[in-house]
Amino acid sequence: MIDTIFIEQDVLDHERTKTVVSKFPKSRRIIISRYQEVFNKRTQNFRLQKKQPALILASKHKNFVLPAPAGFGIGTKKNFYFSHMYNCLYDCRYCFLQGMYSSANYVLFVNYEDFYSQIETTISDNAKGRITFFSGYDCDSLAFEKISGFLKNTLPVFSGLERADLELRTKSVQLEPLLSMEPQQNCIVAFSLMPEELAKKLDNKAPSISRRIAALTRLAERGWPIGLRFDPLIYSYDWKEKYERLVGSLLEALPNESIHSISYGPLRFPKKMYSEIFKLYPDEDLFSFSMKEADGIVSYGNGIEKEMSDFLLGQLSGVVSSEKIFQCLSQT
Ligand code: SF4
Repeated sequence: MIDTIFIEQDVLDHERTKTVVSKFPKSRRIIISRYQEVFNKRTQNFRLQKKQPALILASKHKNFVLPAPAGFGIGTKKNFYFSHMYNCLYDCRYCFLQGMYSSANYVLFVNYEDFYSQIETTISDNAKGRITFFSGYDCDSLAFEKISGFLKNTLPVFSGLERADLELRTKSVQLEPLLSMEPQQNCIVAFSLMPEELAKKLDNKAPSISRRIAALTRLAERGWPIGLRFDPLIYSYDWKEKYERLVGSLLEALPNESIHSISYGPLRFPKKMYSEIFKLYPDEDLFSFSMKEADGIVSYGNGIEKEMSDFLLGQLSGVVSSEKIFQCLSQT
């Protein structure tokens, strides 16, 4: 699956580098000085690269933990995110990464311990109240696990943290190490969801919605707190019926007490990012709907956003406590 690995000189002897490289014995290896020389190179073609991305093994030097964008959260006042990886195995049409990076290559930062120490510092710097850390902002939290082993290393770190929650955002049905570890009540496995018909068109290379629901069910049975993420809400013909069916299947499959939180958010892009993504897929159905621009943000507009949010809340009303439901208004 990966035929070229770029390796920063500084991490050449890192144990994690050796482990990852050993999984691709036939790969071509190229030593580089810093990952940016490959990743940030101009005149790269994201679409072409996405067909066969290379892997870049690097060390992150700063910005290990960053404040989450305003409007992003699941109940705690303080929210942070971290990205041990840039880019994703999947290829969702609305993914903001393709508008943000010029390269589709995967960057994996192997110095996980520096993330952990910054997480601990962030907790001590914010002495009061609970804090949520979001993983899976610039990648999928679980999809690369067999190669990265990131969760296997990270979950034990959070098991000792009393005031901190970790959200693992994913579309992956790759459930190890979650199934073989004891569930942790401060680690929420949050699946991104949309109606099956739309996911088939838009969530390229990602597992189908029925497989995601089956995975959620297994995790709930095992005792992991579950997050349901309807973000972005996608407008289409018959959207009400599609979302009604989706919510119905989820509520039927999951015991209410296993649901930690539900969040939902509109499809929104900063104007420049929208233009970048539109250039990649001018004929994509997703962009055939006339979008509106206001204050530099491209969206369906307030009327449709409200109609969709109200409809979803109506479906959940009386079944899931409103205290577990959050609107996410950050722009991707
Ligand atoms: S799963 Fe998330 S990060 Fe991966 S391509 Fe889809 S939207 Fe992007």
